Amino acid sequence: MSAAEPMGVNKPICMLTVLRQFLFCFGLLVTGSLSVAQQIQESQEHFPREPANIFGIGDDLFDYLSRTDIPFDFHLERPDHVDVWVDESEFQQLVLEGWEIQWVPDLELPYWEPPKGLAEDFITPATQYPTFEQLTAFLQRMAIDYPDLCRIESIGQSVQGRELWFLKITDNPDLEEDEPEFKYLSTMHGNEIVGVPLMLNLIGLLLEDYGSDDRITDIVDGTEIWIMPLMNPDGYSRNPRSRTNANGFDLNREFPDRVDDPVNSPEGRPEEVQAVMNFGFNHSSILSANFHGGALLVNYPYDSDFSVGEGVPSIPPQPGWFSPDDGLFQYISRLYSMNNPPMFNSPFFEDGITNGISWFSVYGGMQDWNYEWLGCNEVLIELSNPFQPSSSTLPQFWEENRESMLSYMEQVHIGVRGLVTDSRTSQPLPATVVVEGRDHEVFTDPDVGDYHRMLLPGIHTLTYSAEGYRPKTVQNVVVEEGDATRVDVELDREFSGIVLK
Ligand SMILES: [Zn+2]
Repeated sequence: MSAAEPMGVNKPICMLTVLRQFLFCFGLLVTGSLSVAQQIQESQEHFPREPANIFGIGDDLFDYLSRTDIPFDFHLERPDHVDVWVDESEFQQLVLEGWEIQWVPDLELPYWEPPKGLAEDFITPATQYPTFEQLTAFLQRMAIDYPDLCRIESIGQSVQGRELWFLKITDNPDLEEDEPEFKYLSTMHGNEIVGVPLMLNLIGLLLEDYGSDDRITDIVDGTEIWIMPLMNPDGYSRNPRSRTNANGFDLNREFPDRVDDPVNSPEGRPEEVQAVMNFGFNHSSILSANFHGGALLVNYPYDSDFSVGEGVPSIPPQPGWFSPDDGLFQYISRLYSMNNPPMFNSPFFEDGITNGISWFSVYGGMQDWNYEWLGCNEVLIELSNPFQPSSSTLPQFWEENRESMLSYMEQVHIGVRGLVTDSRTSQPLPATVVVEGRDHEVFTDPDVGDYHRMLLPGIHTLTYSAEGYRPKTVQNVVVEEGDATRVDVELDREFSGIVLK
């Protein structure tokens, strides 16, 4: 631990900020626009935690942080410090304990100005970052323009009352069908913003090219797609943008965790986390990804493990760091990165992919929760080294990610699929499916009884079970490349130990 001089306890107010705020207010007087005024007033609201840097990185720092609730982030591109988000008392406590901590100067926090034009003017492919209002108007317009292909749904409200939007895209959007559910979520960290316009680009592509592009048509016809372009609208809408939600919580540290928080209940968690958890419980997602920024890579489970504390591990990889589906995760992660040359050629990570713990471990992440409790294969994708790259670079980011995003979605169709039904009534069953040799369950969608077990090519043995039914094992299921092998299974009801036929 380096016991350096504290750099000053009170956050300095930069003159430029004062000037900038004055200019904002002056601009308001001139335009007299109430909605813009409300937007700016809201956007400058106080968040409990502000960004700071801690220098003098070592295991002891990570050990220390792991015993606190302080959100932190670490990137190999900036190896001399750890980013933390702290309130005044947490800052003072860190100073007292001898850590070399500095507030991030206002000058280094990129302010943004509301884009010109009306909310309705936003179009894709994006050449600017949308405001929350533009994002909302865009999604609503898509739902109106493509009524046969999509539905807009709010899964709840943020702390400050913004809607948490999902757009559902599929053929027959009001029908439960025998098809896998896929989801993309972006920007649970409000200052990691590239994914927001890219999600809107993807939505535009899927809807506009449906019917004219065979590949897009196949994806939309065969998949129930859910896209949440902005999970932390309060942090994103604030000026400067914030990693945390409006109550100072890092949303990627607040999910249930197999190591230190194994109760799979939304109770007591941040609003945005509760909404996403409840969405997860009400759906049967098979594959998903969540988009971040600040690095360029795909990060796959696990992020948390019993063998290490929080932070950068000082020991070589341990067996417990890797999930039972590690080969599958490496395959789908590499598929994403290999279509994105800057990511694939990462100077830090071979092929631009990494096991979560090997990079740095976190507890309470959304990715592990999806895998562990929903049986959904989720990875975390870092889209850009800068947190907030210039809007002029958005066309290039879209170019580098469009094929990756489509290829990744198509992987929801590999492995084994089918229906699990009652042998007498043919009714769909809520059932679990387990592959021999892998300690991991996936679940049927109880509405239709369909399951989708992603697997790489090979010969597998699968066991199907449902409460009140006799389990059934199917051996020698051959999985080939491409579309999943179909195995429909009928289970016999068991009553007091007697199997009803
Ligand atoms: Zn992030």
